[in-house]
Amino acid sequence: MNFLDGSSVSSSRALDPYGWDADWQGEFAPYAERGLLPGRVVRVDRGQCDVVTPVGTVRADTAFVTPNDPMRIVCTGDWAAVDPGGTPRYVWALLPRRTAFVRSTSSKRSDGQILAANVDHAVIALSLAVELDLGRVERFLALAWESGAQPVVVLTKADLVADPVTLAHLVQDVETTAPGVPVLTVSALYDEGLDVLRALVGTGTAVLLGQSGAGKSTLANALVGEEVMDVRAARDVDGKGRHTTTTRNLLPMPGGGVLIDTPGLRGVGLFDAGSGVGQVFSDVEELARDCRFPDCAHDTEPGCAVRSAVDSGELPHRRLDSYRKLMRENQRIVAKTDARLRAEIKRDWKRKGAEGRAAAQAKRGRWS
Ligand code: GDP
Ligand code: ZN
Repeated sequence: MNFLDGSSVSSSRALDPYGWDADWQGEFAPYAERGLLPGRVVRVDRGQCDVVTPVGTVRADTAFVTPNDPMRIVCTGDWAAVDPGGTPRYVWALLPRRTAFVRSTSSKRSDGQILAANVDHAVIALSLAVELDLGRVERFLALAWESGAQPVVVLTKADLVADPVTLAHLVQDVETTAPGVPVLTVSALYDEGLDVLRALVGTGTAVLLGQSGAGKSTLANALVGEEVMDVRAARDVDGKGRHTTTTRNLLPMPGGGVLIDTPGLRGVGLFDAGSGVGQVFSDVEELARDCRFPDCAHDTEPGCAVRSAVDSGELPHRRLDSYRKLMRENQRIVAKTDARLRAEIKRDWKRKGAEGRAAAQAKRGRWS
């Protein structure tokens, strides 16, 4: 049984709205030869997942693709090869991921947790109902870049900013914080700016990131065109609403593209975003190339190009603070997952301590 050759091309088209393309088809070819069905994972729960396939949505057991490595566990957005029939059906393989959203888990278990796979656009929702927190923007951008997805910043509830000049300034602030990232303003309430967003996410798979109350559920409803999320306007004074999510975590958008919205993604906090941080702060890292010391911490080191850019007003002080904070936070997380690095940091401290003691001794020697 081959679902993807001549006679059944029409049935494989059923996956097009879910992001199936020629490259996935190529990756899937060996499984097609074995008579397996291609499908995209729309939901995962303990040992089972829902997969959309050319024959509809099927439930499949993930026992054969659940290795010890938590990064390789099936997740929403994965493309899979599943049994064409039988009870239970099994997932036999996952196609190699193009991108992946990962959260580092807190405390003792330091392995990453995979949140969503094969995401092309990370839509970062920021509410204009509250003061813009640029540090938060940078945090979400780092997470997005790290995943491999293209970030898009959407300033929501634009109707709450009456003055167009103020609005333009807010957009500008975000644009300088997010080099290389499109920044849009939308009002879901007045259907403004949504077409631009739809066009941007109309190909590939998108996720919505942002704080609670940022307007993600409202955007999801606008993009998917049905009441996916139950937005219950709670106390609107603080711009926050309450919502409950339905069980489908991956939905095609009528204008094209796919939206993934999982509770896990909504709660992302700590993350492991080393290179992501670098991309968000490409301006800082570029300046840092001119620092005298390659490992300059841009603190009190002599010949620091970053500090001098801050002093000249070229680089906002806030941005340097934010960069250092995220780098430190990231280093803590990485250290947790990497014992080797932990040992290195310890050695470094010891070395610094020894150097400090030697310097203090030399000083004393000089004066005594
Ligand atoms: P989420 O927590 O990020 O999913 O945010 P919600 O979509 O639940 O929205 C939070 C609150 O903002 C709700 O009370 C919405 O009605 C409100 N809201 C969403 N979009 C807009 C908008 O375009 N304009 C205004 N004024 N309020 C909005
Ligand atoms: Zn420096």
